[in-house]
Amino acid sequence: SGPSPYRILRETDLREYLAGLPAIVAQLGGAPADWSISEVGDGNLNLVFIVKGKSGGVAVKQALPYVRLVGESWPLPLSRAHYEHMALVHQARLAPDLVPAVLHHDGPLALTAMQLLEPHIIMRKGLIGAVSYPRFVDDISTFMARTLFFSSDLARGAAERKEGIAAFASNHALCKITEDLIFTDPYRIAEQNRWTAPYLDDTAAAFRDDLDLHVAISRLKLKFMASPEALIHGDLHTGSIMVTDSETRVIDPEFAFYGPMGFDIGAVIGNLLMAYLASAGHERTPGERAAFEAWLLDVVEGVWTEFARKFLALWRSEASGDGYPASLFTGEAGAARLEAERQAYMARLFQATVGFAAAKTIRRILGLAHNIDFEWIADEKQRAICEARALKLARSLMLEAPSFTTIATVTYAARELR
Ligand code: ADP
Ligand code: MG
Ligand code: MG
Ligand code: MG
Repeated sequence: SGPSPYRILRETDLREYLAGLPAIVAQLGGAPADWSISEVGDGNLNLVFIVKGKSGGVAVKQALPYVRLVGESWPLPLSRAHYEHMALVHQARLAPDLVPAVLHHDGPLALTAMQLLEPHIIMRKGLIGAVSYPRFVDDISTFMARTLFFSSDLARGAAERKEGIAAFASNHALCKITEDLIFTDPYRIAEQNRWTAPYLDDTAAAFRDDLDLHVAISRLKLKFMASPEALIHGDLHTGSIMVTDSETRVIDPEFAFYGPMGFDIGAVIGNLLMAYLASAGHERTPGERAAFEAWLLDVVEGVWTEFARKFLALWRSEASGDGYPASLFTGEAGAARLEAERQAYMARLFQATVGFAAAKTIRRILGLAHNIDFEWIADEKQRAICEARALKLARSLMLEAPSFTTIATVTYAARELR
């Protein structure tokens, strides 16, 4: 069948559409009339349907020509589905068991059918319930090390890299959302900002008046805009990760583009730190979540240390890119100097990671899009206490980044605030 013009597929249209796709029909089994279809999208932007047949299921994601959370008054290009599909293919090649497999993509319909993740749940919800995930550190560090390393100048030739940058350059509307909502609005009066009022009114005003902070967030914004280090996921929070005891899958890479690696690593770490500082708001008896909270900080440390270990191992064994030409680092002295430079590179990446983790935290408390880690704390005063701790941590991570030299200094600061 030829390309179909864009239309929003509701249940009846979707059933008919999927019934015309042999691979999907085979995956689902049974008669199309008997498939169950339910819309489960809980994200801010798109429609997601779960379709189940006699023998299997699929998840179907369709982009809307506007932001789902806001409505038609905020248009957003359908092309984000194209970038999401390209990123999923890249990730599936490099980390095949850590993303849902793509079963079908329709560009004009801005629609992707993918492997149904079941019984996986959104990690953020598991963390609110104090569930720990023993596979998470190993899986997310593998995902980040491989997807980031293999799209960088350490692994790819200059021409291929520039083609890759160009292939994602037009995803700029999604980048602009990040540039506005993460790197700008929380620090100024913006109609869409909100926070837990009145408790955080003074803190929000202080963030709007703090020029040191405005310099720091602007440096991070420039780094986000002007550092095509690797093909990043671009929205790697704990709501973009689905988990079971034994599996981790990263979803929703529609914000993907060539950007700074620290933005992905910082997203993971910032969201884990928020889960940690929100935890007090979810306990019914003091200390009941202590073991879980200790695990969370171990995970923060593990995410960085395992990422760094795996990334460095790839650099030592699989460097075939045009960065750091081997011909400039020959002999024993050259090898030693290159190894020292690898360590210096990781130290710079860690600084960026800390800054981005802080930026991701501040936007969730003072900006438009909040997270349920805090929102599900029903007692607003208690919520504000947790959020104020997270803001305090984020502010010091952002302003005193150079004094956070190791991930242990970050978890120490978080523990002191809890
Ligand atoms: P959005 O871009 O709108 O945030 P997501 O890709 O995050 O959309 O998907 C929204 C929700 O749909 C997820 O939180 C998850 O509950 C569900 N979902 C998405 N992909 C799958 C999948 N492959 N299997 C099962 N559920 C999924
Ligand atoms: Mg999402
Ligand atoms: Mg985000
Ligand atoms: Mg999304």
